[in-house]
Amino acid sequence: MRNSYYDVAQVCPNGHVASSMAETCPQHRKPFCDKCGEATITSCPKCDARIRGYYHVPGVMLGHNYDPPGFCLSCGSPFPWTERKQQAAIDLFIEETQDQEARREFKESVEQIAKDTPQAQVASLRITRLLEPIGKFTAQAIRDILVDVASEMAKKFLIP
Ligand SMILES: [Zn+2]
Ligand SMILES: [Zn+2]
Repeated sequence: MRNSYYDVAQVCPNGHVASSMAETCPQHRKPFCDKCGEATITSCPKCDARIRGYYHVPGVMLGHNYDPPGFCLSCGSPFPWTERKQQAAIDLFIEETQDQEARREFKESVEQIAKDTPQAQVASLRITRLLEPIGKFTAQAIRDILVDVASEMAKKFLIP
């Protein structure tokens, strides 16, 4: 009997999943994303390690819920979708404030919340504070983006 194993995922740089089973179902591969048109990848652009896809367990159908990982398991680099979402949140914040210190703090915190560390909680509290003085709609837009990249722990603080 075969053991449990991870398939290979095919994902576009914006984080749209083309296939979570690119290895076992190569016929479902899509060279380009059907949501944004960008070329998809199946391996880390930095170190070429395979992107972990669907987790197969023999005899068990777990359903097909699948979220691509935020970071490469082999080299630790953020994947393109993680970087792009972080950058989008930072860009929105920069539009709202001229305060250089707040901008720097925000950028650092955004990088931290994606990681599953105790610091991520501190970072999400800091982000909540930094978002207080800025426009409600922008603050909500930033939160929506960050929830996608935040680690599970950081999420709890981000969505009160
Ligand atoms: Zn896409
Ligand atoms: Zn890598």
